[in-house]
Amino acid sequence: MSKELTIVSDLMCLDCGSVFPIRRKTLHQKKEGHIKDLYCPTCKTETKHFELKDKDKFLWKYSHLTDEDILNSKKDETTKQAILLLRKRELESEKSRSRVLKKIPSKG
Ligand SMILES: [Zn+2]
Repeated sequence: MSKELTIVSDLMCLDCGSVFPIRRKTLHQKKEGHIKDLYCPTCKTETKHFELKDKDKFLWKYSHLTDEDILNSKKDETTKQAILLLRKRELESEKSRSRVLKKIPSKG
């Protein structure tokens, strides 16, 4: 018998937007948008996590839509919340990355 294959799936905390990759057995795949209660190290408590499956693909899938388009779409509220939260997070992390590149950190 071969070893069971696992794949990595991205889950996002719906409170703070942190993304955590988790391993899943391929036989137990959950759909995108699956909600799971997980401990979030950022919130330091158990929160609802939204299953993105693949963060980059998820972002790309909605990249042609504006925030307003998403709010007006027929998606369920949790999915809308997840898309907007993830976008905001990505924007913020891009900003902080470029800040780090421009400026040599002076404190440890
Ligand atoms: Zn969190």
